[in-house]
Amino acid sequence: MHVPPLIEDMARKFSGKLLLKSELNISEQRLNYLIKNGYILEIPSIQTKFTLHKCLRCFNMKPSYFGKIPHHPKPIIYCKQCIQMGRTSTLEPLYQWTGPKPTRHYPKNPLKWRGNLTHLQQRASTQLVKTIQQNDRLLIDAVCGAGKTEMLYEGITHAIQYNKRICLATPRSDVVKELAPRLRRDFPTIHLAALYGGSPEQDINSHLVIATTHQLLRYERSFDVMIVDEVDAFPYHHDKMLPKAVRRATKPDSATIYLTATPRFKQKWLINTNQLPTVSIPARYHGHPLPIPSKQMLFRLTKQLEDGQLPAKITQWIDTKQANRRFLLFVPTITLAEQLATKLDLPYVHAESPERHHLIQQFRTQSISALITTTILERGVTFPSIDVAVIQADHHVFDEAALIQIAGRAGRSAQDPTGDVTFFYEQTTEAVNRATTYAIRKNLEAKGRSS
Ligand SMILES: [Zn+2]
Repeated sequence: MHVPPLIEDMARKFSGKLLLKSELNISEQRLNYLIKNGYILEIPSIQTKFTLHKCLRCFNMKPSYFGKIPHHPKPIIYCKQCIQMGRTSTLEPLYQWTGPKPTRHYPKNPLKWRGNLTHLQQRASTQLVKTIQQNDRLLIDAVCGAGKTEMLYEGITHAIQYNKRICLATPRSDVVKELAPRLRRDFPTIHLAALYGGSPEQDINSHLVIATTHQLLRYERSFDVMIVDEVDAFPYHHDKMLPKAVRRATKPDSATIYLTATPRFKQKWLINTNQLPTVSIPARYHGHPLPIPSKQMLFRLTKQLEDGQLPAKITQWIDTKQANRRFLLFVPTITLAEQLATKLDLPYVHAESPERHHLIQQFRTQSISALITTTILERGVTFPSIDVAVIQADHHVFDEAALIQIAGRAGRSAQDPTGDVTFFYEQTTEAVNRATTYAIRKNLEAKGRSS
């Protein structure tokens, strides 16, 4: 069937998405033409039943998350929950493409990476390809530094060769920024879009979309293969909206793959009751064991800082670093980050800091050798040859998964596979103990698999 070029162009931009008028970015006249001829369907974004509302973009049903637009002649209700993605309201509908599907040409041999997988990585990779072939579900439970990204390559290649559109979703924008250039380098002939809040890129009929899970609120039945990285991470793990967004973005006949190093209770339950096929990778790609965290008691930190003192244990830890050894100091709060940054004369980052991306980039390129950080750098980022310390590791923000992930930042490189991980704390917590035994347990498991 011949599709007029204008319609093909629109299909490439809008197919598989739920968009606001401002996101369509086309003239009123063209929009009316597309609606009248059945290419686009207009759907109310807020459904109202009696006095209850539901936002069809973000699934919000909480009355307190809806507002009334002030000074408007009519009572207009809008959704507060997803407003940062553009406003949905009783005046502002969503638009869905109902015209022909866009054509997509798939390269036959998209993978340019020529590395080798370890036998454990290969096991996961084979299972992944099988899952994609069978439109099934799979959880890959792999320790930090197992080489998860390379494990996905055969699966991505297979999907592309079979004309399947892929989404690699992650809760964190830093991870999107880290993965996109790697995948562009290793799959140079495919169309790839990297999407996060404020990203300059657009998905125009891409083969592969790398996106934060929030961005999936703009999709519907779009992907044949959905890979959710860091499935246990905040905010995906806390927010019911995000798993729903992932499900809606996926086609009914599709494969879903979850990746994690630290399965939460829900995932453990699904694994243990055989409801979710799982493959476990207890070893790092370079074959060296996970660093075992060392524990150091550190009393009255807050009091000492208030008195203008710096605890000797922290300065000793820093002083023992060799001149070229870089490190991250994790802290639970922005206040503590500021206090330590002043005392130690070191830069610090947190989720809201304006310098965040610049400083992370400087640390990555080794322009700076140390960085104080909140949990924003706990996972998904890889820096070779670093040590890590957690200050106030007994604080409630450092749960077991966070501490395991932080410890997982050390010893990532094959050339420098060891690293110092130290937890400073005042009271022993279950999380501190569990994160320590996790490393011991996984190392034993890995040893058992290799012998
Ligand atoms: Zn909403």
